[in-house]
This record gives sequence, C-alpha cells and structure tokens, in this order.
Amino acid sequence: MEIKFHSTNYNTPDVDFKTAIIRGQALDKGLYMLNEIPKLESTQIFSFKDLELFEIGNIVLSKIIGKIIPEQNLKEILGTALNFKVPIEKISNNDYICYLDKGPTCSFKDFGARTLARMMEYFLESEDKNAVILTATSGDTGGAVAQAFYKMRRIKVVVLYPKDEISDLQRKQMTTLGQNVTAIGINGKFDDCQRLVKTAFADSDLKHINLSSANSINFGRLMPQTLYYFWSYSRVVENKGEKVIFSVPSGNFGNLMGGLIAFRMGLPVRKFISAVNENDEFPNYLETGIYKKVEPSKKCISNAMNVGHPSNLARLIDLYRGQIDELGIVHKDPDLNKIHQEIVSYSIDDNLTKKTIADFYQKYKKIIEPHGAVGWAALQKYREIYPENNNFKAINLETADPAKFPEEIISLINITPKIPNSLEIIQNKEEFPNQVEVNEYRDFKKFLRENF
Ligand SMILES: *Cc1c(COP(=O)(O)O)cnc(C)c1O
Repeated sequence: MEIKFHSTNYNTPDVDFKTAIIRGQALDKGLYMLNEIPKLESTQIFSFKDLELFEIGNIVLSKIIGKIIPEQNLKEILGTALNFKVPIEKISNNDYICYLDKGPTCSFKDFGARTLARMMEYFLESEDKNAVILTATSGDTGGAVAQAFYKMRRIKVVVLYPKDEISDLQRKQMTTLGQNVTAIGINGKFDDCQRLVKTAFADSDLKHINLSSANSINFGRLMPQTLYYFWSYSRVVENKGEKVIFSVPSGNFGNLMGGLIAFRMGLPVRKFISAVNENDEFPNYLETGIYKKVEPSKKCISNAMNVGHPSNLARLIDLYRGQIDELGIVHKDPDLNKIHQEIVSYSIDDNLTKKTIADFYQKYKKIIEPHGAVGWAALQKYREIYPENNNFKAINLETADPAKFPEEIISLINITPKIPNSLEIIQNKEEFPNQVEVNEYRDFKKFLRENF
C-alpha cells in the first residue's frame, strides 16, 4: 500500500506521492501532508551511524515513497543530490552544531531543492511532460532552487525575490544563471512574492501551463529535510534510544517540519527548539493559543527567516490534529498540550543575534552566521531555563555559510569570512537584468502567458 497525501484544507481528494510532488500545492490551496507516517525501529535508526547520508536517505525515503520511484532510481537521485559533506562539530559540553551549509549554494535548502529537482525530472521524463516552477524566496530558497534546477531538460524556473531584502550574493545565485532560470526582483516583501505565486497557481487562465512549486510548500522539498536529523542524530549519540535536543532556525517552518516528521518516524528526540527572529507569531501562538500573523513581516539580519506567516504552519498544525488555512485562520485548534510537550519556541531579536555572533567568536574562535546564531541563542536560552535537561545532547542546525553575510560579520567581529569556492565563482559572474517590472499580479500574469 502506498501512503496517500491529504490537503491540510481537506477540500480536495487525497493523492499519491507523485501527484503531490508534481502539483506542489493542493488544489484547495492547502499543503499536501502524509496520511500516515511510517515507522522505523530504534535499532535501525541507531545503526545509521555506519551509513552515509544518501544510504540513510534510501532507507528513510523509500518508506515514504514506496515503489513509485524504483530503488535504483532513488539511489541515483539521492547519490547525486546529496553529494556534499554534512559535518557535525562538538562546540561545548553537550552542544553540537550540524553544518547544513556545504552544498553548492551554501544553504540548507540544497538538501530539499536538489532532491526535488531530480525527482521531478524523473517523473516528467517518465511521462514525457514539461513543467514551469514558480518560487518565491525570502533569501536562500531562490538560489538553491535556481541552482538545483539549472539545466534540467524538462523544467523552467521563475523565481520572485524582494529586491531590497536580500544580499548581493543571494541575488547573484539566481541572476547569473540564465538558460532555463528567470529571476524577477520585486519592489516588496517576501510575502508579496509569495502572494503573486499563490495567485498564479489558483489562476484558471494559466491552466495550460504546467505550473509547479519548489517552495517549502512542496512536500518533495520537505521530505529530504528529515535526513539530516537522522544523520546528525546517528553521529552524536552513544546509546540506542538516546534522546537529543534539536535547535532549529525557523522561517517558513520547513526545516522544523523535517524534524517533526523524522520524530514521528521514530527518531528519539527530547525537544525541538523552534528558533525564530523578531517574526514571533509562532512563540506568541504557543504562549497565548491565539494565532496572529506578523504583518508586515519584520526585517531582521537573519533574512531568510523574515516570515510573518509561515506556510508550513499548516502542516505543523495538521500534525497535531488542528487545521489552519493559507490565510492564517485557525479552523480547528491543534492539541496544544502535545505541542508544548514536544516543541518550545523562542524569538531572538537582532541585538541578541548580533551579540551571539560576537560572543561565539570570542569564546570558540569560530564564526557563526545570523540564522545559526538565532538557533544557538535559542539553545542557550533553553539551557538556562531547563538545566535539568543539560545531560541531553543538543544539536543546533547551522543553515548558511557566514560568507553570505560579510558586512554583518565584519562589523561584529572584524573578520572577513572565508568565501567557499562555489560562492566565489558566482561573485564574479555577470548578472542577467530583471526581465519584467512586476508591480501587481496583472504584470506577472502577462509575463507568464507570453513566455510559457
Ligand atoms: C530558509 C532558511 C531558514 C528557515 O528555514 P524554513 O524551512 O523556512 O523554516 C533558515 N536559515 C536559512 C539560511 C534559510 O535559508
């Protein structure tokens, strides 16, 4: 039996894995979510310590995917998608950092984007079809998606980004490619980009274009993000069944959802710390039980997390048997007690983020970047409030390379972070100009109709 996927809005029929991946978003604007979550034995999870990341991936993901992608093809997809290192380093006592920033765009989004690109190409190839990927980015998604799909034969990519809210390097990761990749800068915020994309998906005039999404709303992006939880877990524990704490820098909550699914699959976790910046809608929700978006979203130095209404909240709430729609209206309360048992969430403001970057360098002579710093600060806060859990190991997820935020790092610790090779190449490349001025949805629609 294949596992089916329902929409978090419950207004459209269940689909199989392939349909969920190809569509990206459900027809009723909900997100596709697993009907049931397969289980792994703790003995098997512990034995992952002897396996490589892509081997863990073959085991974990085939549980979810079933036979829709044959074993040999899945091996090939994961072997080429996850071909970079994922180092884990002990920082102090029981606190570790897992570096998710060693992929080609130096962002943790390489995990999901590269895997999804290859899965989509596989499905389209097998059906002899083509697709256009629409993606909104608050910083890093765009680069990871553009690079991941670059030169795929059956897929074209359109990325929308907020012109004034991303770094030069983040922009260049999208604008220097050309070929099947179009990057469009918007005078607005991430949420505006997101709205344009969502409107296009729902627009019946665009039905003739096979539109799909590679945002974290696509389950195919989310699924591979379970893997670094299994991986890092297997590298730090000494005993079978040992529980660890994860601190997760969170924006659209795809990162955290990967962890929560891994947890439901059997990964022994003591607690998830959802670390957010000043966009504090989630910690507020946990505290008050009343959900209120942050509108407009706040501009923080951890810019990939400047999200006032996380899209994956729909899945999170669904996992705890509640329902929230794409507008942020809660139709059914989730089991908040259970959420409190499993997740804590802290908002870390820019001042503390900066102080954390400076202190971290002082103390450990290592550079941490703004997103990882939000996670680290939240972990330290947790350690202070819950000293009874100090015996549990904790893994903080570092989601980007410090070299992506040079001005910030230099101003705080007076050191220029070393640029990884993959970024250096991009830095010196020519950018393609903005192809179209998009001020309202009409402009975007016109562009799509004329070009695809
Ligand atoms: C996207 C991103 C995050 C947040 O991940 P979500 O899945 O949106 O919660 C954190 N750090 C970096 C560097 C990112 O690019």
